Amino acid sequence: MAKSEKGVPVKQIARERISILFNLAEGEREDSTLSSRYVALAREISMRQRLRLSKQQKRSFCRCCGTYFVPGKNLRVRVQHGKVVYTCQECGNVVRIPIRKNTNQVR
Ligand SMILES: [Zn+2]
Repeated sequence: MAKSEKGVPVKQIARERISILFNLAEGEREDSTLSSRYVALAREISMRQRLRLSKQQKRSFCRCCGTYFVPGKNLRVRVQHGKVVYTCQECGNVVRIPIRKNTNQVR
């Protein structure tokens, strides 16, 4: 694995940067241009380092248009047929997540 000068694995740094970017996006949730920009940067890092985003991170933005989700503003959340349906109000992309029992995946 590639390492930085100090011997810290690059992937670890990338992971930290991604979580920082998601925190920044959360802080700028009122400004969708800025928060989406942070998401775009985080995705770029994750792709370059081939890192997977956490479930929470993956669901906090639209995979289709990259908008950072703010429930009630640009995200509609509905429960339908045992699935949680996330609808992006920017591009209309729909994501259905099955609710599984005995997991804390979706509350
Ligand atoms: Zn979208």
